[in-house]
Amino acid sequence: MATAVPPQAPRPPKPRISQTQLFIDGQWTPARSGKTFTTVDPATEEAIADVAEGDAADVDAAVRAARRAFDEGPWPRMNARQRGRLMLRLCDLIEAEIDELAALESLDNGKPYADARNIDIPLALECLRYYAGWADKIQGATIPVNGDYFCYTRREPVGVAGQVIPWNFPILMVAWKWGPALAAGCTIVMKPAEQTPLTCLRLARLAQKAGIPDGVINVVPGFGPTAGAAVVRHPGIDKVAFTGSGETARIIMGQASDTLKRLTFELGGKSPNIVFADADLDAAVAGAHLGIHLNQGQCCCAGSRLFVEDSIHDAFVERVVELSRKRRVGDPFHPDTEQGPQVDRAQFDKIMGYIESGKREGATCAAGGKRHGSKGFFIEPTVFTNVADTMAIAREEIFGPVLSILRFKDADEVIRRANATDYGLAAAVWTRDVARAHDVARRLRAGTVWVNCYDVFDAAAPFGGFKQSGFGRELGERGLDPYLETKTVTVSLAPHSRG
Ligand code: ADP
Repeated sequence: MATAVPPQAPRPPKPRISQTQLFIDGQWTPARSGKTFTTVDPATEEAIADVAEGDAADVDAAVRAARRAFDEGPWPRMNARQRGRLMLRLCDLIEAEIDELAALESLDNGKPYADARNIDIPLALECLRYYAGWADKIQGATIPVNGDYFCYTRREPVGVAGQVIPWNFPILMVAWKWGPALAAGCTIVMKPAEQTPLTCLRLARLAQKAGIPDGVINVVPGFGPTAGAAVVRHPGIDKVAFTGSGETARIIMGQASDTLKRLTFELGGKSPNIVFADADLDAAVAGAHLGIHLNQGQCCCAGSRLFVEDSIHDAFVERVVELSRKRRVGDPFHPDTEQGPQVDRAQFDKIMGYIESGKREGATCAAGGKRHGSKGFFIEPTVFTNVADTMAIAREEIFGPVLSILRFKDADEVIRRANATDYGLAAAVWTRDVARAHDVARRLRAGTVWVNCYDVFDAAAPFGGFKQSGFGRELGERGLDPYLETKTVTVSLAPHSRG
């Protein structure tokens, strides 16, 4: 994962909680209802701060501000290159506060400070800078139509974008959503996840400081069924981009039908990670470990089904189990920590429920399987062997540090089993046989296939799901498409009399 940011600062700074109100039309305001909700440190279960709880009335104010900024404001009208420059200025401000932002992210989410500092924020900066570069390169085409006409297309911003994001990569998800929307000239109403509102609010402050005009970015923290649903239903919003669970996406799709909103969804997965016997096994073991455990297993593309070829199965599994047992779980701010707590009690309980179901259904719990410690939502890195395709732990997204290992005999069989899921977000294959690598990559029904690597992201490479893992793509040139309308202009070239 390439980064232009220097490596981790020696000691994390103490996070400062400066923004806890709604950010609407450039103003910090309490919720109209006066309500607040508490955001909790998942490592200690203690309250961090009370945050304004937006609902439909606040979303309406935010949409009106975003609408004005789009319909009358400078943002979609300014020179596109200038939009890009303001985005780059935002990136410089983020980079100047990177240690503090990473600390705030770690506090609110529970992820290791070092990961927030060295993975999440550098990737977010890459994304925002990549899209800043697109701002003045969004072009239409000239079309050779029949007759005496000049026909061309314009790529215009879709309007006000409603963006609803999850809690697993709060800063990075802001970048994935703001980057293409801002480059395209859209304005934004964002609803961050109720578990992790703090860094999104801080980024809004930095955007204002960077000179992005008031009303272009509005942030309304709150809960899904109230604030989130209001974003989805509001007739003043032209497009909704959602990242989260399939269940919520189904609700959103229903609610968006009244206004026929454009939708893009980035949802869950049960991604197969396939290891053939001829693979570089050292690399594959590391990839299997990272593929499931990165970010406490809270990745939509987690390699949660590890398929291992028969002939190497036992030795390979032993190494994966050993790595999991050695993984250092604990205080996210300790420099040696590799795994922090799950984000909240609901996720903790759900994951522990899956661990129990794996044991009940007859899989072997070869590593972990228990809560870690007695305070905070920590779970031991867990590995199940002897898993059958029919078990819940092999079929359903767990969104935690729980790996299911399955055994296979040949390529046809493993591809069939890998594809036997409603999901299709990501997959990986490990082999030294170049023909087999490309063949398997072609036959896997997933939006991303990694060959001899895992979790390699780049702002230029599109990401998104086949099947019920979503629709639309984020990142890369394709990631701009959902924020653009194509307008066709046809001009008669016939000479006409002027009376
Ligand atoms: P998770 O179960 O991982 O928290 P969700 O899909 O519930 O995933 O949440 C992702 C985001 O969607 C959060 O910001 C959440 O508040 C929001 N959300 C939840 N329910 C709804 C809903 N009915 N309408 C709009 N947004 C929602």
